[in-house]
Amino acid sequence: MAEQFVTLHCTPCASCVYEAWQHVVEGRLRWEQSEHCPAYQVQACGGGWGPPPPWVREHVVAREGTTRLAVGGPDGIPLKAVRELYGLSLPELRHARTHGLDATPVEARLLRAMRGEGPRG
Ligand SMILES: [Zn+2]
Repeated sequence: MAEQFVTLHCTPCASCVYEAWQHVVEGRLRWEQSEHCPAYQVQACGGGWGPPPPWVREHVVAREGTTRLAVGGPDGIPLKAVRELYGLSLPELRHARTHGLDATPVEARLLRAMRGEGPRG
């Protein structure tokens, strides 16, 4: 039986493909990542609930951009929804309320849905 060696390489090479994305599963925010390298036959994937880790979010933002959302007030996303989704501290929440919030398209869609509106685009 031939043995197959899998060479792990830590530094991404020119063939490495990394993908990260977000989606909503049963009303909850989820992120996924997948990494594969055709040159070295390496494949890894993972994911989790809630807001993604910063390096994953960076990829999502690079590809999809962000939308500035108003937080609080009559037209804004309710503070409670923002706090629940991102787990913000009170100072962070105040900052979001003053300056708005940069949400990815998937996060924006979920937050708008939490406001009690359907997705409006
Ligand atoms: Zn590679």
